[in-house]
This record gives sequence, C-alpha cells and structure tokens, in this order.
Amino acid sequence: MKIVQLNDKLELQNDGTLEVFFIGTGSAFAQEHYHTNFLIVKGNDHILVDFGATGPIAFPTTTGRPVTDVETLFITHSHFDHVGGVEYLALLNRYVGMTALERPKMKMIINEQYQRILWEMTLRGGMEWNEVNREGERLTFTDFFEIIRPSLRTSVPREIWEVQYGSIKLEIFRTNHLPAQPFPWQQSFVTYGVFIDDRIFISGDTVFDTELIAMYSDRAEYMFHDCSFMPNPVHASLPELRTLPDEVRKKIFLVHYPDKADQHDFSGFAGLTKQGYRYVFD
Ligand SMILES: [Zn+2]
Repeated sequence: MKIVQLNDKLELQNDGTLEVFFIGTGSAFAQEHYHTNFLIVKGNDHILVDFGATGPIAFPTTTGRPVTDVETLFITHSHFDHVGGVEYLALLNRYVGMTALERPKMKMIINEQYQRILWEMTLRGGMEWNEVNREGERLTFTDFFEIIRPSLRTSVPREIWEVQYGSIKLEIFRTNHLPAQPFPWQQSFVTYGVFIDDRIFISGDTVFDTELIAMYSDRAEYMFHDCSFMPNPVHASLPELRTLPDEVRKKIFLVHYPDKADQHDFSGFAGLTKQGYRYVFD
C-alpha cells in the first residue's frame, strides 16, 4: 500500500488499482479538517461516500475538480457531516451551468428503507417544490438520482448489503451509532459502514463495537475507524480502540477525528488518516 500526497488534480480513473481518497478526515465539529467523506476510485469507476456540509468546498479544494464530476454517491447516514452537501450537489447538477439539462442524473447506491429516510427526513424540504415534472407532479428522489439497489445478503448476525458497481465491490454493513443509549444494533437508527473489494474496512460512524470489528479484522488488509479522543456515547474512542489486540490495531488508520489530533499518542496504530492523500492498495 502506498500513501501519496496529491499535488495536482485527482484522476477519477486508473489502471484498475483500488484507491481511496479522503476529501476530509475531521469529525462533525472539527475546524482543522473537512468532514470525513471519501472517494473510492478503481478502473473506470468511482464512488463518493458521503458529502457533508463541508463537501461543496472540500471536494474542489482537495481534488482540484468541480463537484459536478461526481457520478456516483453512497451515503452512510443522515448526520449533517455525511449528508449536509447532498442537496447542494443535486440542485447544482440539475439547474446550474449551460450543460445542466444534458447532464446525466447522478447515481445513488441506496436501499429502499434508507431512500425513504433520506428523502422524507432530510432532502425533500429543499428539493421537492422547485418545479413540477413532465407529468405535472412535484419532484421526487428519482428526478434527481438514478438508483442503484444493493441486495440484502444477510440479516444475521449483522445486516449486510452488497453491490457490484463496475469494478468496485461494496459490502455495506449496519453500524451501531445512535441513539446515545446502549441499545443493540437492531434497535439503532439506520447507519452504515463499508467493506470495499473484500479488502478495506471503513467503519462509518459507530460506537466501539467489538462484534463488528471481529467480523472484519481477519479479512481486512486495512481498517479506517472513526475515533473520538474523549469517551463518547456515539463514537469509538481512542482509549477503547487501544484495547484491541496489537495485530488489529496495526491495521487501523484513525479517521473522523477532532482538532488538535497531533497532541495524542497513536503508537500501535497504522496512523492518522490524511486528508488530500491517495491511499493506493496495489
Ligand atoms: Zn454520525
């Protein structure tokens, strides 16, 4: 694996090598880094995972590209640092620029349950009433997005969805992030993380969940795990992650971290995830 600083424009195609590029590595309230949102690039395909409130600035600043270059989106959950830029992206794609009318719809990898949640509880207020469509009806989710449905692989012991998008295989697993009370994952709000190409685990937002880590720690070459530095009821914390066995910790890059990260000790971990660097898994 190579970690390469991007000095020019990020290519959204490559020779077929799996790459992950973080347009941000910060927590929801971080100021030093943008929100933890990332691109998966492989062959002719790319997927942007999450587009938070900082996304409209973070994407062009870190990639050197306009956000309209994004073809495909996957959203892990509905907090503003993961979804807060999606309305901007959808409206920009549909309405802004000479080419807006000819631009193909963005693709969104999303299951039926989360599509309902995302539209009804987050997007609809700003997107439904802008115009009526050809049938004279107000706009719906599918006027903005072409849907790619993952298929449900299993619900036991954990809900797992799967999709093959071009050359990229995404395994989408349920996390346990909300509410702050310690419910089992089955009673938590819908939130996801991803396992890419049977190689790379990215936790999404989750509490410290040893059952989930055990499901993937053998199979994963590297794991990117969210991390708060203080005890936190909805995120894994550094003291909790330190309790993992050495062989698991050395695979873990910490991400979704607060400001002033360099004041902490990360010995035993693979390191802090760097914003604006290409993680190339050759
Ligand atoms: Zn969250």
